[in-house]
Amino acid sequence: MSLNLLGDRPGYHCSACRVTYHDSLRWIDHCNSRSHLKAIGQEHVLAYDRTATLEEVRKRIHELAEMQKPKNESYDLRKNIATKEEAIEEEKARKREDRRIRRRQERAAKRYNEDSE
Ligand SMILES: [Zn+2]
Repeated sequence: MSLNLLGDRPGYHCSACRVTYHDSLRWIDHCNSRSHLKAIGQEHVLAYDRTATLEEVRKRIHELAEMQKPKNESYDLRKNIATKEEAIEEEKARKREDRRIRRRQERAAKRYNEDSE
């Protein structure tokens, strides 16, 4: 498989199948074709072609059912609200602190400007 610029037109050449394609969509189709995969010894990638066993289907259903279950089974509304309120208080405190620092910087800048006048 290589981009072949030799010959009359550029194209993709598959050395395993000894074919050249001048159009990339057909090239991609070729790369996924059963005959090409067989030629390069990768027939096993066609595994999805086979039918799943009953056991595999059961296992998959079980996995999907597990995914549907709520992550936190002991969901506590009060605790959840308390956590959210705590986060809101922390955010308020952070903003208060930011304002305090900004005011202090503004006062310092004002004092500096007054001193330098
Ligand atoms: Zn091929």
